[in-house]
Amino acid sequence: MSRVYNFSAGPAVLPEEVLRTAQAEMLEYGNSGMSVMEMSHRSKDFEEILFTAEKDLRTLMGIPENYRVLFLQGGGCTQFAMIPMNLMRHKSADYIVTGQWSKKAAQEAKIFGKANVIATSEDRNYSYIPDLSDLNVTPDADYVYICQNETVHGTTIRTLPNTKGKTLVADVSSMFLSEPVDVSKYGIIWGGVQKNVGPAGVTIVIIRDDLITDDVLPFTPTMMKYKTHADSKSLYNTPPCYNIYICGLVFKWLLKLGGTEAMHKINMAKAQLLYDYLDGSKIFHGTVEKKDRSLMNVPFVTGSKELDAEFVAEAEKAGLRNIKGHRSVGGMRASLYNAMPIEGVKALVDFMADFEGRH
Ligand SMILES: *Cc1c(COP(=O)(O)O)cnc(C)c1O
Repeated sequence: MSRVYNFSAGPAVLPEEVLRTAQAEMLEYGNSGMSVMEMSHRSKDFEEILFTAEKDLRTLMGIPENYRVLFLQGGGCTQFAMIPMNLMRHKSADYIVTGQWSKKAAQEAKIFGKANVIATSEDRNYSYIPDLSDLNVTPDADYVYICQNETVHGTTIRTLPNTKGKTLVADVSSMFLSEPVDVSKYGIIWGGVQKNVGPAGVTIVIIRDDLITDDVLPFTPTMMKYKTHADSKSLYNTPPCYNIYICGLVFKWLLKLGGTEAMHKINMAKAQLLYDYLDGSKIFHGTVEKKDRSLMNVPFVTGSKELDAEFVAEAEKAGLRNIKGHRSVGGMRASLYNAMPIEGVKALVDFMADFEGRH
């Protein structure tokens, strides 16, 4: 077996310890006589997996009592529709567009009503976060939407927007559990787990009680109502059982490590290693304004397409995988999610320095 350093933006690296536990429990979970994949979702064993996962997530994020935790399917892109279907009572919502994922969310919302773009960084290919302290919030907007960490462009919103009293909805897919968060500042905080928490197939939605209602847009299917899933504790229909189980193992791994504060320290150290190198490099350059740089997704370029391609090819051979940038930014992107060990970042920086010495 030879595991590589996997810098993929998602699906992405998972903690080796978690994979080993899953391996050990593959044929028989506990004393159940079967794999988690083979269990009824109504069984005692699975209910315990699900409710323990929720309890651990609540501990990790300090989720207040008046928030529900929903384990849903359909990926991030389904939330782009589910959010307006459930929240857009006045057929109007404000979107802050800071990259590909918030742009997609705004486009999808237009199916249901007005999606007002009240701030954007499109003018400079989403390489910065605009000032969000005094926005022209639309009076009848039902919520203000952000993607707090833009996976493709590598920016993070560090200071939440002043929503002037409106409900804040945030996509945190690519920074989920990477640092402490004050859930009470959000109406909905949600993420697809395949970036930083688990295998593709689960989307976790943390939603304040008062936003869960039957008063949704007409024609909203049963499966698309938050209330359906809240009322049945994420067991309205068959949930993605095995993937929830893996998420639960990741939560345990994080708790053992010291929670999100300990994780944040490690993540800062990892990102600093790479950013410090980039800031001093003569051939590699970060593409994001310093103050807005993500700890999770680090895009960088050489300025030459040929050199970028050469670097990516050599890195692959050296066991530094999935380092090619997204086509809209080009160059390279290293995703430094929770499960990427600091040794992986050191190996990358050493390799970049070696490459730089040769060019
Ligand atoms: C990957 C990603 C999505 C889309 O997730 P899917 O599960 O592929 O639909 C949405 N938002 C962010 C921030 C992402 O990184």
